Amino acid sequence: MTNHRIALIPGDGIGTEVLPPAQRVLDTVGRRHGFTFSYTSFDDWSCERYLREGAMMPPDGLDRLRDKDAILLGAVGRPDVPDHVSLWGLLIPIRRGFRQYVNLRPVRVFEGIDSPVRGAVAGKVDLVVVRENVEGEYSEIGGRLHRGFPEEAAVQESVFTRAGVTRVLDHAFALAAGRRGRLTSATKSNGIVHTLPFWDELVAECGAAHPEVAWDQEHIDALAAKFVLDPARFDVVVASNLFGDILSDLAAAVAGSIGIAPAANLNPEREFPSMFEPVHGSAPDIAGRGIANPLGAIWSAALMLDHLGHPEAAADVTDAIAAVLAKTDVRTPDLGGTAATAEFTDRLLELL
Ligand code: ATP
Ligand code: MG
Repeated sequence: MTNHRIALIPGDGIGTEVLPPAQRVLDTVGRRHGFTFSYTSFDDWSCERYLREGAMMPPDGLDRLRDKDAILLGAVGRPDVPDHVSLWGLLIPIRRGFRQYVNLRPVRVFEGIDSPVRGAVAGKVDLVVVRENVEGEYSEIGGRLHRGFPEEAAVQESVFTRAGVTRVLDHAFALAAGRRGRLTSATKSNGIVHTLPFWDELVAECGAAHPEVAWDQEHIDALAAKFVLDPARFDVVVASNLFGDILSDLAAAVAGSIGIAPAANLNPEREFPSMFEPVHGSAPDIAGRGIANPLGAIWSAALMLDHLGHPEAAADVTDAIAAVLAKTDVRTPDLGGTAATAEFTDRLLELL
């Protein structure tokens, strides 16, 4: 029987509360479909460790993850530690070190969830934001000049490479070909005159290589407006690191709950483990109360099943998520219910 070795990084706050439900779901579908999981948990890779030892993870952290088939992350961050510490001390080293250059964020409006957006009708909105995950606007290149003087300035460079952009575009076009065959590229080549025209050229090249996909491009400002006004029109949306970051949070909000949204950081070549994590953070305001919504972590686990070669098992999990939302009143407080995390997970497992 196939066994998958999974690294768990629960992290901080509700990160530690949403991973056990995801494990219960994985073990249940594994039993049904004939595979198993073995878990190695890196319990103290967190902001607490940073406060104690000055680092989110040990110096050989990546080496300890390297032989795993996938990584499941809860959430990192806490109010007394600046956000950039958890980002640059854990998330970015893993994404870059393991060449996880595709960040995949599916968004669906499920029946039983109220979207704040009128046009976001259940069953109609089903899109995936594909975000470039390792280059673009998030570079360390730049600096501060003349600190404290009247001419003080800051400079930040973006890096778009042909290889880096093309590989994420190829992934997005292939994904679109396997879905509804539509792709939209986020750009701003009217205002940003070097990097994004280059991005547009590479999109056109990839588009020509994928005649089965109908593609177009939109400036990021207009695209953000359309995400709110008519989210059902989108299938796959591909974007640079910064634009993808903004669009995927916007899309998750349109879908009605940050607690449900999943993310995958993929190394499509499978040279290194990929990492799966809910979009939400550590939610310090509700941490420790056992009421966190586990669906974001559970859906992330479904993305992991897909990546590990078990699409039927993944579909069982997303069907169970749809069913628990559509058919029952059992739900966590963020979705208007009174159920605890464990009770909500029990109900989902019954439907699974
Ligand atoms: P971080 O700095 O770790 O990103 P944050 O507070 O900035 O934390 P989130 O942790 O995503 O951002 O929390 C935003 C809001 O959404 C909070 O009010 C939180 O309670 C709520 N929230 C986030 N995830 C969940 C969840 N899984 N279940 C219920 N509520 C959630
Ligand atoms: Mg935050």
